[in-house]
Amino acid sequence: MALKACRVCNFLTEERKCPMCGSEDLSLKWKGVVIISDSERSVIAKTMNIAKNGKYAISVE
Ligand SMILES: [Zn+2]
Repeated sequence: MALKACRVCNFLTEERKCPMCGSEDLSLKWKGVVIISDSERSVIAKTMNIAKNGKYAISVE
């Protein structure tokens, strides 16, 4: 199954619905992957407004 990115929170998932924020607005067109393993201290997580650990797309179309 193709990995889709959530347009709301950028979370990457294979589900029909984003498990992170519950949005069904998912896109197959996304670029770049960022893995957040320490959302508390990660500068990238802060910049991207990510509060939870996981795999995210850098940009979603
Ligand atoms: Zn989401």
